[in-house]
Amino acid sequence: MEPLHDLIDAHCHLQEPKLWHDRVAVLSQVKSAGVSTLLCNGTHEADWQHVTELVNLHPYIIPCYGIHPWFVQTCSDTWLQQLETLLQNNPHACIGEIGLDHWIHSKPYTDQNGNSVSWTNESIKENERMQEQVFLAQLELARTYNRPVTVHCLKAWPWLDTILKTIGSTPLPKRGGILHAYGGSPEQVPHWASLGFSFSFGAGILDDKRTKLHNALRAVPLESLFLESDAPDIPPRNLEWHTPATMPRIYSKAAELLHLPVEELAEQIRSNLQHLLA
Ligand SMILES: [Zn+2]
Repeated sequence: MEPLHDLIDAHCHLQEPKLWHDRVAVLSQVKSAGVSTLLCNGTHEADWQHVTELVNLHPYIIPCYGIHPWFVQTCSDTWLQQLETLLQNNPHACIGEIGLDHWIHSKPYTDQNGNSVSWTNESIKENERMQEQVFLAQLELARTYNRPVTVHCLKAWPWLDTILKTIGSTPLPKRGGILHAYGGSPEQVPHWASLGFSFSFGAGILDDKRTKLHNALRAVPLESLFLESDAPDIPPRNLEWHTPATMPRIYSKAAELLHLPVEELAEQIRSNLQHLLA
């Protein structure tokens, strides 16, 4: 088989220390793997600068700036202004990674002093309040500037639905958004699609046991489908060094699950990205 080319990684974190320190090697591997466009998602104020540096050097990297739900506690007083300035300075920038997460409440967290702390009912409530506030503010900015959003939703589907309903019948920017590493049910796909969401799947689909995830992938309309590495997070099994160079495996597996020629799938996803950013 010809090596794949012009692949898109719809969600990764090249600015994270695991990849950032070896970025020259990582980007050369990524290029050899046939990945030509990457959406690099910031997660908190402290890493936005690295995203900008990468984008300035490599125009094939599309910047996404956002506060990830795991980092709402780190927000400075000026985070929203800084985010708005980044959007104004870069007309191609998207907003991400943003979202809602109930999973974090299931394990202790590390406080500013490096201590492991258990959640209490009160601290969970406070964290939920902050997550909602930060998420809503970013969605509003996305609608104002009509920038696509990349949304993380972990164990929080009913919560996400409730929050979006408080905004109204068109909660997303006109350009829409991506539910990244989609882990919702296949049955819920039409609902999220009706709100303007696309869906992105990562290395999880490589696991043959994850039939629900495979069914979710098959339930997604082809024009709303994306694939991602989420590198360096969510590595395929038995792979410690996870970079966007994994994308050809993910494309091949998705094509197999969808009974499509992989080239056709790659072309479809290129067209989906053009549409999202148009
Ligand atoms: Zn991510």
